Amino acid sequence: MKCLICKHGETQQGFTTVTLEKNGSTIVFKHVPAHVCDNCGEQYVDSHISSELLKKGQEIVKNGVEVDIREYKSAA
Ligand SMILES: [Zn+2]
Repeated sequence: MKCLICKHGETQQGFTTVTLEKNGSTIVFKHVPAHVCDNCGEQYVDSHISSELLKKGQEIVKNGVEVDIREYKSAA
């Protein structure tokens, strides 16, 4: 798809790192599937993936973890 930020680049399938910060906890998901603009580098994570990450993040925060770095794995 065309990039919404720079309006020139095309997005390519790739991976990104998503960092969530909540109540003093930091959770990092590596290798999250994303569409990355080949012009400005803007990253687009699908909404079903970002809501899944938020849900996982909330579970991790509930366990009282301060810093958690994990590989993203699809629930599917
Ligand atoms: Zn762009």
